[in-house]
Amino acid sequence: MTLTLTSVSKTYPDGTVALKPTDFHVAPGEIVSLLGPSGCGKTTLLRIVAGLETPNPGSQVKFGDDDVTELPVERRKVGMVFQSYALFPNMSVRGNIAYGLKMQKLPAAEIDQRVAEVVRLCKLEPYVDRRITALSGGQRQRVALARAFAPRPRILLLDEPLSALDAALRDTLRDELAGLLRKFGITALFVTHDQDEAMAIADKVAVMSHGTVVQVGPPEELYRNPRTRFVAGFVGHAVHLEGQVAGTTLRTQGGMLTLPRDGENCEVFVRAEDVAITPNGALKARVESSVFLGTHYRLGLSGITAGILYSNHAGLAAPARGTDVRISIDPSKLLLIDQSGATP
Ligand code: ADP
Ligand code: MG
Repeated sequence: MTLTLTSVSKTYPDGTVALKPTDFHVAPGEIVSLLGPSGCGKTTLLRIVAGLETPNPGSQVKFGDDDVTELPVERRKVGMVFQSYALFPNMSVRGNIAYGLKMQKLPAAEIDQRVAEVVRLCKLEPYVDRRITALSGGQRQRVALARAFAPRPRILLLDEPLSALDAALRDTLRDELAGLLRKFGITALFVTHDQDEAMAIADKVAVMSHGTVVQVGPPEELYRNPRTRFVAGFVGHAVHLEGQVAGTTLRTQGGMLTLPRDGENCEVFVRAEDVAITPNGALKARVESSVFLGTHYRLGLSGITAGILYSNHAGLAAPARGTDVRISIDPSKLLLIDQSGATP
């Protein structure tokens, strides 16, 4: 089911502009994550799609050709999974999954059949008669998903479903969730503030900032071609390389860099993984900090840009603090952000 938002905005009664007029499109079966920092309007957007929040006049939400803008939540046929899961703790897994189907007054045989189907999909067979309180975090997540999916919603909405879990579990469940959503084959909108999660789960990522979607694209495209400063910084922590651009060169405090193309009217950004320590690098820098992180050292470098420029150094040893080093950056790894994208 296609989801189309046209000029959707939301001002709360206290005057907070949570969402500026936003256009947004999700293709049938596509999994899109809304990625952005806390307070940027992700939950507001999701709740408007669900019908839990009324958008400003002039907003339009469509599921396929069906204009649902005025439709109450119970008639929109959306499935929802929240951070808290909101499961009934003392009910069994089966009871939780069947609950919504009973509310819809479906015949008992159909309820049994649908419960069996989602239980199988979500690999919950061994737990159907267990109470929720006797399940692990991961199992609870699968129950929440199964419950949301059982009524055959038109669209599935997930609001930070992994953020209450501890870090070790989160990685496993993230991949599991990505797999399950694809098995469901359902149009899904997934809200997160975590870029790794957004990239791992979604076909497309919509980056939000200050109440609007600033860039939408497949994870690889967002990563390689951020169009705004904000996206460059938020997705992959690119750092602004200060200096004077002239044609295809950038003059920094630490030396000259070659740009991948004419950089007139552009700002130049780079990520830590693309800053290399090499004996004959073009830039001079000083190591201010060196932290061993297992797969690499994270070096903090001064002398190139006003703040600290980080370098992920994969070698078996790293230069110590206070050492002068040479740095090189592959021109193709430099991100050029046009001035039109300079405002967040
Ligand atoms: P996110 O989910 O990205 O963290 P939200 O959509 O929850 O962001 O919030 C967006 C903005 O709207 C924030 O500034 C938040 O404080 C504000 N906000 C959210 N809900 C309400 C509300 N019911 N009344 C007033 N302001 C709200
Ligand atoms: Mg939120």
